[in-house]
Amino acid sequence: MESIDTKYSQGAFVRFGPFRYHLPPMTAHTLKTRFAPSPTGYIHLGNARTALFSALLARKGDGVFLLRIEDTDLERSRSEYVEALQQDLQWLGLPWQEGPGADRGNGPYFQSERARLYADFYNRLEASGQAYPCFCTPQELEMSRKAQRAAGRPPRYSGKCANLNAEEVQARLAAGLKSTLRFRVPGDRRIVFEDLVRGEQRFEGSDIGDFIIRRADGTPAFFFCNAVDDALMGVTHVLRGEDHLTNTPRQMLILEALGLPVPQYGHISMIVGPDGSPLSKRHGSRSLRELRAEGYFPQAVANYLARLGHNFQSDALLPLERLAAGFEFNRLGRAPARYDAAQLLSWQQQAVAQARPDTLWAWMGPNVEALVPAQSKEEFLQAVQPNVTFPGDAEHWARVLFTDELPLDEEKRETLVAAGTEFFRAAVAALEAHGTEFKAFAEGVKSATGAKGKQLFMPLRVALSGETGGPEMGRLLPLLGLERARRRLQAWA
Ligand code: GLU
Repeated sequence: MESIDTKYSQGAFVRFGPFRYHLPPMTAHTLKTRFAPSPTGYIHLGNARTALFSALLARKGDGVFLLRIEDTDLERSRSEYVEALQQDLQWLGLPWQEGPGADRGNGPYFQSERARLYADFYNRLEASGQAYPCFCTPQELEMSRKAQRAAGRPPRYSGKCANLNAEEVQARLAAGLKSTLRFRVPGDRRIVFEDLVRGEQRFEGSDIGDFIIRRADGTPAFFFCNAVDDALMGVTHVLRGEDHLTNTPRQMLILEALGLPVPQYGHISMIVGPDGSPLSKRHGSRSLRELRAEGYFPQAVANYLARLGHNFQSDALLPLERLAAGFEFNRLGRAPARYDAAQLLSWQQQAVAQARPDTLWAWMGPNVEALVPAQSKEEFLQAVQPNVTFPGDAEHWARVLFTDELPLDEEKRETLVAAGTEFFRAAVAALEAHGTEFKAFAEGVKSATGAKGKQLFMPLRVALSGETGGPEMGRLLPLLGLERARRRLQAWA
């Protein structure tokens, strides 16, 4: 361990992101969780949920949430995704207390910067005989797998290169053969661990077989550096998708062989679409970026994700501190969590309903701001807040109220024609008599025409607002103003 610390602890390593933290050094007992994305795309709902649960656990335990960039796949990793994922985590309200821009002595936090360190661990494993070079070609391995499958056995490494002596290895290297590095799994080992979510898990060493920890091109296998980094960075709790469950016994063996601490693992159930298959674009799933661009509030997304496969005592929209306080392993479901777009939308509606005016104005954007006259801003918000879900809805109402645009489809025109010109003549007269006080105005129309209920309110609403539903007319009419209201009623009189 000494060599690693001295090699990598000099100075903070900062590559991306404007976020800096000055935090005290951690104690050995700090609870530490992590999010370890591969920057090969934008964060989608699945990994956002993993990040969220990890951040909630850290917050609940007064611990540290660490961000590590798993960019060993240099071809698929892109710096714009690194940048984007940091912004997306910040947007969702999940800043990391350790990671890029926040070195706490365990960096670098980009795996692409840690090759020397992995090399050191490979050497140790090889020197102790716990790993060995394997010269089998992909073709040979494929044939061996086929043969095992044909014999009805699950495929695992045959052990062909497991016992080559030093001369045999040298001869192959001298002949220019490429080798992978394989971890030697003791066949009689049974790996048992208590998964934080799924309870006791058992794996037999003989079922795992010797596995590759370094590829022939020299790049590290994902689960090698992932496990080594968790240990070196002091991660105590690994929460991740159930798809990684079978990696865990391999990772535990690697850590044990290196004498490194093994974190506790919890495997969260996968998110599936309404048809039960893994959540994808096909089910309407989007990246955090897309949701943000559509106008979703981060609180809505966080509250929705927190309830995907985890239940809370409260069904209210909760701030992250409250979500953290209510987070419990035994409230995490083991069954796949079903994505429900309607639920996400309903959290969004709650977030809009609870947002403060300045937040809403910023969210609605400059178009809306420009449409709404300064003296009507407060009334406008009061009127439309219960009826908008996205900024576009607010813009729609701003246009209805403060411009002469009023698109009416065929069905709405029919409603207005059916009400009749006499009805609208009475409406114009009632408006002159009562002004924009909607109750008095509607009473006036009612007593002049005898229309009541839907027959009374629907034609008035459609003619004045262009919609069959929406904010209270009592709030809309004064905003519309006498002039515009008169013109809209007159058009059908
Ligand atoms: N880089 C891995 C992934 O994105 C991390 C897996 C893990 O959380 O251990 O799937």
